[in-house]
Amino acid sequence: MTRVGVVGGGQLARMMIPAAINLGIDLSVFAESANSSAKLAVTMIGDYTKWDELEKFASTVEVITFDHEHVPLEHLEKLRSQGQSVYPPPQALALTHNKILMREAFSRLELPQPLWAVADNRESLVASVDAVGGLPCVAKLPVGGYDGKGVRVIDGLDQVDDWLAQGPVLLEEKVDFVREIAQLVARTPTGERAAWPCVETRQVGGVCSVVIAPATDVSAENTTTAAHLAHVIATEFDVVGILAVEIFECPDGQLLINELAVRPHNSGHVFTELSVTSQFEQHLRAVSGYPLGATDFICAVGVMVNIFGEVNPVRAKAAAQQYPQVKIHSYQKPARPGRKAGHLVVVGDDANAALGAALDVKAILEHSQ
Ligand code: ADP
Repeated sequence: MTRVGVVGGGQLARMMIPAAINLGIDLSVFAESANSSAKLAVTMIGDYTKWDELEKFASTVEVITFDHEHVPLEHLEKLRSQGQSVYPPPQALALTHNKILMREAFSRLELPQPLWAVADNRESLVASVDAVGGLPCVAKLPVGGYDGKGVRVIDGLDQVDDWLAQGPVLLEEKVDFVREIAQLVARTPTGERAAWPCVETRQVGGVCSVVIAPATDVSAENTTTAAHLAHVIATEFDVVGILAVEIFECPDGQLLINELAVRPHNSGHVFTELSVTSQFEQHLRAVSGYPLGATDFICAVGVMVNIFGEVNPVRAKAAAQQYPQVKIHSYQKPARPGRKAGHLVVVGDDANAALGAALDVKAILEHSQ
């Protein structure tokens, strides 16, 4: 039985638990607190930024993988130098730590992406804004942004003064996309790969709200191109586990890469019900050297809708009674406004009917007192 250790006790670690049980993998979670989302599999509570604590956890498992990308890379390099399997490897994780490094890496590989530039101060901002096609454009904090925090559409040069005071700011052309898609692929240590069909992601305020799978309005050519881009990135950066690539589709059909994650991703939650193999099972298969599972869909379409705030168990039961076709996933996290607290999945033959049912349940769950 392979002993896999997950650093971080969030919902991604939580959703690896049933997959691990079914595969016969011994899953341990190193969580930040006793009340973490993945508490069912927590074997150690501590601070993953402290080398001694991380090393202690690592000594109890054969493979280290992640619920998030925040573990210091130098710790991971040290674990690897001691012979520990760390998947994905630190050089792949590094891409997700800094959006400027990611853009540089994509430029080196000549991958399609928005025009981009870096501003170090108010003086270089003028030239950088010009380089990305002028205002309005998109400004991003290179480090630490998530769920749209750290992303601003700016139409004035004074709108990133606060960020420039902290360090360099990434500027991008404001892409006039027709839709956003995400392409997920899994890769094993020996280079075996398996992709799911790309999905459409719909954001509200920079945060993913709805996922439609497959991305029905995307041409066959772009479906192939999206998978190709993900395969190239996974191979070039030696990703092991799940890679998610977020992509803009432009009015002329061109695909531009927005960003990536090297772990299970919100856009792949729909595969738990829709695909033969969930992203959590596939991630565990990949990091523990199992053959990858089939990625075929078992229904024509699937819809995923995120729930924010808190999943009230009483309302969840009422919604489940009214909508038995809707699968309710609750992360059992302490409530915080705007925080993802769970998600819903509906599969079937008709995307509109599936989305309608999921949005009805979301309204019930998020209804304020
Ligand atoms: P985060 O890392 O916080 O998820 P992203 O870089 O993915 O931030 O940006 C969040 C959202 O902002 C994207 O899903 C997209 O809707 C929008 N966005 C980001 N970059 C651009 C861009 N260059 N042009 C247009 N919209 C963008």
